[in-house]
Amino acid sequence: MSSTKNPSEPSLQLAETKDWQQYIEEFRHAGHQTVDWIAEYLADTRAHPVLPSVRPGALIDALPASAPDRGGSFDALLDDFKKIVLPAVTHWNHPGFFAYFACTGSTPAILGEMIAAALNTNGLHWKTSPAVAELEHVALGWLREWIGLPSEFFGIVYDTASVSSMHALVAARELAEPEARENGSRGNLVVYTSDQAHSSIEKGGIAIGLGQKNVRKVPSDSLFRMRADLLREMIEADIASGMKPICVVATIGTTSSTSVDPVPEIANLCEEHNLWLHVDSAYAGPCAMLPEKRHFFAGMERAHSVVVNPHKWLLTPIDFSAFYTRHPDILRRAFSLVPEYLRASEDPRAIHLMDYGVPLGHRFRALKFWFVLRYFGRRGVEQFLRKQIQMAEEFADWVDRDARFERVAPVNFSTVCLRLKGSDDDNRAIIERVNATGKVFLSSTSLNNQIVLRVAIGNLGTTRADLELCWEIIRGAIC
Ligand SMILES: *Cc1c(COP(=O)(O)O)cnc(C)c1O
Repeated sequence: MSSTKNPSEPSLQLAETKDWQQYIEEFRHAGHQTVDWIAEYLADTRAHPVLPSVRPGALIDALPASAPDRGGSFDALLDDFKKIVLPAVTHWNHPGFFAYFACTGSTPAILGEMIAAALNTNGLHWKTSPAVAELEHVALGWLREWIGLPSEFFGIVYDTASVSSMHALVAARELAEPEARENGSRGNLVVYTSDQAHSSIEKGGIAIGLGQKNVRKVPSDSLFRMRADLLREMIEADIASGMKPICVVATIGTTSSTSVDPVPEIANLCEEHNLWLHVDSAYAGPCAMLPEKRHFFAGMERAHSVVVNPHKWLLTPIDFSAFYTRHPDILRRAFSLVPEYLRASEDPRAIHLMDYGVPLGHRFRALKFWFVLRYFGRRGVEQFLRKQIQMAEEFADWVDRDARFERVAPVNFSTVCLRLKGSDDDNRAIIERVNATGKVFLSSTSLNNQIVLRVAIGNLGTTRADLELCWEIIRGAIC
């Protein structure tokens, strides 16, 4: 090969090309720095404003419109991360984060994510990574036992509860109308959920072509629980008019108020009409471990499928949604489609995760979750949950003792719903002022057609002092 340099056509000996060892050495160095940075960040998250004070578009404007021509050092890019990206981050791992459902990306899980990325292994079918399928099987089996689901429940990890519930709807359709897989559905299938259900149930109905209007919203009672008597009426009316009910989605721990639908009564109706019962317990699910909260989960074991999100209240960083079904055969019938290039072992013990859903690729999410279960153990997790429930109950008590405020829903788990006795605008103004402090972050919802403040506790680092500060800030925000 000629060594003559042609300036318009660089030789293969690019200055940017490093040998493998050099990549590793740079990684080792930057990796240690990164872990140190993470440890400092987690030790002192309160130093950051929970909610960034940037304007929409600020980060986009701060970065070049085109990717760099030449690569850069880890030092330079970590620097840019800290200076440019970090100020636009909302700190979900902040102990003052009380919005939506607060959560924790715990330390063992952070390491699990790091290792999973290093392995970059993809468990589409068993042979493509036996560890992915089998560790997922084991870790979800452990969680299944903790939350009291019978052993016939099969577990699989999807990214989010939205996707888990969409798979439940497909399984329900497969049970009720197996021809739909081949021919498409005839447009008369109906799903029921309460008017308090998460929007993902409707989205699932949209995604699988049921039609948004065929996801019926059953009214709820004064405690935001699905009215089983009205569910019965709606099912009967639909059958009478030629529609075909296929599924009821009950929620244990609704998103707005953490209310609990009457699952045993709903399960009776499902059995009577041969409907798929899906239980959405994305947030509250881990509490099924606690004997004192077990009553909320009565009937869950009768469901056809259940979703619990460890990325909400089980110490696991996003994304990780655990989907359980006692009918994996039906889920498989709905989704299994194996072209020649994906033909896999027929050993009955070989689990092929690609057969149970839309995605082919399957991330090694189980590793971080297994780390969480190993590191905290059942007692550690129970203690974590109990402490948060106790803090929520105490917070509710403070609210009850201040006549200017009212509580709008019972504290079933770790979320308190409250409002200033005043107008919606007054309550919106409080949220805005509270969030502008950067010390705590609350979100709002609507209950009984009124704006309500939600204080959701879910971060491992949250202390009583954080909650005292939160209450002080809320009270100071009344105009
Ligand atoms: C948060 C939530 C969801 C959606 O969770 P994702 O994982 O973000 O899709 C669904 N159902 C309930 C009850 C929730 O609280």
